[in-house]
Amino acid sequence: MNKNGIYEIADGVYQIRYYFLGAADVYMYLVIGKEKALLIDTGYASTRVKQYVDQVTDLPLIVVNTHGHMDHIGGNRYFAETYLSANDLETAKRHSESTFLKEKNEHIFSIRPALKGLLKDEKYVRELVENEKGQDLNCLDLPETGYFDLGERIVSFFETPGHTQGSICLYDEKTNVLFSADTLCSKGVLLGFEESTGVKEFRDTLIKMASFCKDREICKIYPCHHDFPLTADMIDAYIVLCDQIINKKIEGTNKDTGTCDGLYVSDGKISLIYKRI
Ligand SMILES: [Zn+2]
Repeated sequence: MNKNGIYEIADGVYQIRYYFLGAADVYMYLVIGKEKALLIDTGYASTRVKQYVDQVTDLPLIVVNTHGHMDHIGGNRYFAETYLSANDLETAKRHSESTFLKEKNEHIFSIRPALKGLLKDEKYVRELVENEKGQDLNCLDLPETGYFDLGERIVSFFETPGHTQGSICLYDEKTNVLFSADTLCSKGVLLGFEESTGVKEFRDTLIKMASFCKDREICKIYPCHHDFPLTADMIDAYIVLCDQIINKKIEGTNKDTGTCDGLYVSDGKISLIYKRI
């Protein structure tokens, strides 16, 4: 059974695991410095992420969103302010509107009828209702690159357009860990949203990430969904897949995952859904 909780994955680095409706996994991260702590993403509203943070630190908290999707910003309501790329602000606003969230969930349930059975359980109904409540955002702009100084610990970040225009990855110097958010996931990367980039721009991001990892010999990459940790060879595998799409060696077939739709390609291990090249 998937278990919600907070787990130390490296020195002073914690992974918060949450399974929405007991099924859809999403991970948040907490990095502890000498003077401040950094929370990477706020999950769904029903995650109530603050309870996990409180279990390990009472340091002043900086909160950052890796991008503007509902499963990464849902808990922003519990914090006075959060950092988010200005390029994702429109997306985040849309993903904070009750009507949008209700329609999205309805669509997901229609695509995946197996999930409907879950709604016989009151706990899950409560979770769903909580996540469909809208919120007002109070987001501070992030520059394209920069860093957070947590006191004897620097966590840097850089923009990685692909999954969304304003997606970022973060890097903890102390443990040499990269947080890849939804830009790099084991099962697949989704470029099928209206806020996603085309395949070429995503490929540019992957090239940037590959050289970032090579320069620092990064061997642990922590995503926001699916398997973890990932290694840098996965970036190369996605580059190969992008090249095949760009060079018209392969062409996707239509697919709707419920969260987004587009053309689907796979090499048997990783997959990509895209709307345009
Ligand atoms: Zn996302």
